[in-house]
Order: sequence, then C-alpha cells, then structure tokens
Amino acid sequence: MTMKSMIEQAEQDLLHTYNRYQIVLDHGEDVYLYDVEGKKYLDFMSGIGVFALGYSNESYQNALKEQIGKILHTSNYFYNEPAIKAAHRIKEISGMDRVFFANSGAEAVEGALKAAIKYAYLKDSASDHQVIALEHSFHGRTYGALSVTGNSHYREAFGAMPCEARFAKMNDMDSILNALTDKTCAIIMEVVQGEGGIVPAREEFLRAVRDLCNERDILLIFDEVQCGMGRTGYMYAWQKFGIKPDIMTSAKALGCGIPVGAFMMTQKVADHSLTSGDHGTTYGGNPLACAAVNAVLDQYETLQITSHVRETAPYLEKKLDELVAKYDYCIERRGRGFMQGVVCKGPVKDIIAKAMDKGLILINAGADIIRILPPLVITEKEIDEMASILDAAFSAVCA
Ligand SMILES: *Cc1c(COP(=O)(O)O)cnc(C)c1O
Repeated sequence: MTMKSMIEQAEQDLLHTYNRYQIVLDHGEDVYLYDVEGKKYLDFMSGIGVFALGYSNESYQNALKEQIGKILHTSNYFYNEPAIKAAHRIKEISGMDRVFFANSGAEAVEGALKAAIKYAYLKDSASDHQVIALEHSFHGRTYGALSVTGNSHYREAFGAMPCEARFAKMNDMDSILNALTDKTCAIIMEVVQGEGGIVPAREEFLRAVRDLCNERDILLIFDEVQCGMGRTGYMYAWQKFGIKPDIMTSAKALGCGIPVGAFMMTQKVADHSLTSGDHGTTYGGNPLACAAVNAVLDQYETLQITSHVRETAPYLEKKLDELVAKYDYCIERRGRGFMQGVVCKGPVKDIIAKAMDKGLILINAGADIIRILPPLVITEKEIDEMASILDAAFSAVCA
C-alpha cells in the first residue's frame, strides 16, 4: 500500500474527528520520525508532549519488554509491584501524599474533579457545587473534563455538563473573584496553558489563588498533564514557585507512549474525599503502564532531564526570539522551558505545513500560535536544525 492509499483507507474507516497531517508514521529514531515512505522528520511535537525521552531509549524499551514477558494486567483486585513502586515515586516527585492511576489525562481530570466535589459534599451534603476554571483552558474530552474546558465550542453541542463551571481569566484575580460564589468548591487550572495558546500563569496570580483557596477551604487543582513531567524544567511546573496544589493531575509524558495518567492529592483531601467504591478503573495502574512510569522516572534521573531542560531552554528561547524579531508576522514568543509558543498575527497552518514539507514536525495551539513541544532530550544541535527549517518555512510563506 502506498501512503496515499493508506490514508484513503483510513478516511473510509475512522470517524472524522481529527484533521490529520497527511502522513502515515512508521517508526522513530532518536528525536526523528520516519513515515512509511522513508521520509525523515525532526520531531518538535513529541506526540503532543508525550515522547519526552525520544524514540530510541533502550532502557525504557527493555523495561517494557521485560514486563511484557512477566504480566501485563492484574486488575485492581490485586496489588502489583510496578504500581507499588510507581505510586511511591510519583509521591516523591510531586510532593503529594496519595496517588490514583488512570489511563489518560482526561481520566485523571475526572478523578481530580470527583475528589474535589466529594470533599465539598462531605462538608455540607449539597450537590450543587461549582468549579472555577479558566478561559482557554483544556482539560480533556470526557464529560467531566469538558465541563471545565474553557473553549465553549467544544461544549456547545453536548448539553448540560455534569460539573457546573464558571470561567475566569488567566492571570486576572478580579476575574476569579467575580466567578467566586458560596458554591465554589475548587479552582482548576493548568500552570502553563497548552492547547489554549501556551500561556504561563504568573507567580503573583498563583499565589493569590492559593491564598484565596486557603481562606475559603476551596481546593486548588493543577492540571499538569501537559506542562508537567519536566517540560518546563521542573518535574511539575508549580514547583518553580513552590505554590502547591491540593490535587493535581499528570499524564502525557508520564508513560512516554504507554497510556497512563494519574491524579494525586494531599493527605487532607484523601482523608475527606474518595473512599472505597467511589472511583475505579479496570486498566488503571496496570503493571505494563506502571513499568513504563518506573522506566521513565529512571531515565529522568539518569539523563537529568529537568536540569537539561533548564540549561538548554535559554538557547531555544534565543533561537525563537531571533525568528520573532526577523519576521513581521510574529508577535511574540512565550512559554517556559521546552513548552514554547510563537504567537503570530494570523493563521500558522501554512507555516506548519511548509515546515512539514521540509522535514520538521510542529503543532499549533489555537489558529495563530506555533507550539514548540520537543522531546526533552533535544540538544542545541537539533534546536539549530529546527530554527533553520522554521526560518525557511517563514520566509517561504511570509515573504
Ligand atoms: C492533553 C491534555 C489533557 C487530556 O489528556 P488526554 O490524555 O488526551 O485525555 C488534559 N489536560 C491537559 C492540560 C492536556 O494538555
């Protein structure tokens, strides 16, 4: 089958919920991807922030192979050793006290919301609690996660949402106070918004939200599905400021390609929220997924991923800043670590398509922003390669 015929076949069979790039990927090597016709691409998207370790990490691959040879699944009626280890390590890296394993980011958000709503329920037995979420946020596509996702277009056709959300503006405390009611039980936000356009929360804002939550016994939920796992140069983005949430989520790079998510909470929340029978999953925390988490965390230590990101990010920022200065079409660069956005004056679709032609995979965040989300192992050499292809793409499209 040619690539074209494969794509035609897919378009016959798959539900049309994505506008896919017209490429069938075949395999990866290092930080490069190859399509079925052998074309090579430098990957600056990492499967939407998933493939932090690149595609040739042998220790990671071997750990998975070893686990496949032992056991893949046990159900949560039993304990399994990879999950026991992974939970303990997630506690260490997150500073949280209790871990629940899910299978995706959206599922982690579901659990986080349920925990927060149950916490409020145990105080007043009411069933009409509200959550404050942010405009332009993205928390996933399941109903609960959708309830708090700030893009009304995603919610419009789907009726009443299970979780009553009021939306406020990022980095705007007045807007949070406007959304606040007696029914507010939680505030959920990404520390750096991903899909919504790479918008970092400012330290003062996070601090003010934390203080408000403390005063009112409102739970603060950080969704670290995209900005977590070292992407900003800290294991979790909030750690840069030490402003700790009550509940948080993790997924995407947590499994580096094996579907796994988790939500974590402090002991205080754990003691007064979900208990036996309140939440569950068949696959969540299965041995293969948790072997992946353990292998990922081993590699983060061995390769010192967070310090690598902190050391290398200024170079990435500099190269992107040069492009922003060079092209009128660009407005600004913003972001943290290896999570950067180049904000443009109009659509970036053609620029991304041109880059793709030239062998560079990028992704947008909203129509007008190029999102830079490389594997966390990239070096200055690959940043140079990215910058020169992106430069060529800009000059071809914007000249
Ligand atoms: C991707 C993402 C999700 C959803 O994760 P899935 O694994 O796609 O369900 C939730 N929150 C944030 C911040 C994300 O970036």
